[in-house]
Amino acid sequence: MEPVFSIIAPIFNEKDNLDELYKRISSVMDETQEPWELVLVDDGSRDGSTDIIREMAGRDERVRPVIFARNFGHQIAVTAGLDYSRGKAVVIIDADLQDPPEVIHDMIQKWREGYQVVYAVRTEREGESWFKMITASVFYRLIYRITDVKIPLDTGDFRLMDRSVVDVLNRMRERHRFLRGMSAWVGFRQVGVEYRRAARHAGETKYPFRKMLRLALNAITGFSYLPLQIATYMGFISAGISILAIPVVAIMRLAGNEAFFGQATTLIAVLFLGGVQLISLGILGEYIGRIYDEVKGRPLYIVSEGPSDINNQHS
Ligand code: UDP
Ligand code: MG
Repeated sequence: MEPVFSIIAPIFNEKDNLDELYKRISSVMDETQEPWELVLVDDGSRDGSTDIIREMAGRDERVRPVIFARNFGHQIAVTAGLDYSRGKAVVIIDADLQDPPEVIHDMIQKWREGYQVVYAVRTEREGESWFKMITASVFYRLIYRITDVKIPLDTGDFRLMDRSVVDVLNRMRERHRFLRGMSAWVGFRQVGVEYRRAARHAGETKYPFRKMLRLALNAITGFSYLPLQIATYMGFISAGISILAIPVVAIMRLAGNEAFFGQATTLIAVLFLGGVQLISLGILGEYIGRIYDEVKGRPLYIVSEGPSDINNQHS
C-alpha cells in the first residue's frame, strides 16, 4: 500500500539511537492509523549503524533503507530521503531524538488544516553547550537579516512538507544545499509549531564547528549576494575617503604641517587595503568554487544499496 506519511531520518554513526528512534516513531505513526514508511538514509556510518538498519528493514518492510557509498553530509542525506520518499506528507527528523517524534502529531494536524509546510520552532534547547546555542542563535539571526528569503528563526530541518512541496524541492538539484532556506523559498502555505528541543538520546553531535561553518556559508552564498556587494561598498568608502583626504593633506603640507609623513602611514594604508582586497578575493572564491562544483554536474550522492524505485525522475 502506498504510504500516506514518510518519515526521513539521516543517520551518521547513530547505532545507540536507532532502536529507540524506531520505537518512538512507530508508536507515534501507528496512532495516525494511516500507512507510513520510515526512510533511513545511512550517510556512510562506520559504527555498525548500517547493519542495524539492514536488520530493521528485514524485520519491518515499512523501513526503507538508503545506504550511501560514503559520508556525503547531513543536507545531502536528507535530500536522498526526499528523493526516495513516497508519502503524501513527508517529515524530516534527526535520528538522535532531539526532535521529539510526538510533535509529528501537531504537524499532521496543521497539514490536515491545509498547510503545506509545517516547520518546528525551538522554544528551548536542552543539553547543548553554550557555544552551540550562541553560534546557532547568531547564525539564525544573521541569515534572517542578510538573505532574501525569510527563513523562520530558530528552526532546523525538523518539518513536515506536503508532496507538492517535496516535488518542487526534488527539482532543485543545487549542490550546496540549505534545505530550510530552500523550503522557505518555495512558498506555499507555511506555519510553525513550537517544541522543546531535547538533549541527544545517545552519542555525540556530528556537527563540529567546521561543518556548522560550512552550512552557514552554504546558507549565505545560496541565498544572498550581500558578501559580494560588500567589496563594492568598501571600494566606494575608501575611494570617498581618499578624495576627501587628498585636498586636506595637500593644504596641510603647503601650510608646513608635518602630519602624514613617514613610512608607517604608508604601510598602514597599504596593509589595510591589501587586507580588504584579499578578503574580497576570498569571498569571490567562495562563490566561484560553488559555481565550479555546480558545473561539474556530479551526482549529489552515490547509493551503494537502496530501494530500486526512486521517486524522483530529476535526480
Ligand atoms: N548527520 C548526517 N551526516 C553528517 C552529520 C550528521 O547524516 O555528516 C545526521 C545525524 O546522524 C543526525 C542529524 O544529521 O541524525 C543531525 O546531526 P546532529 O544531531 O549531530 O547535529 P546537531 O543536532 O548537534 O546540530
Ligand atoms: Mg542533534
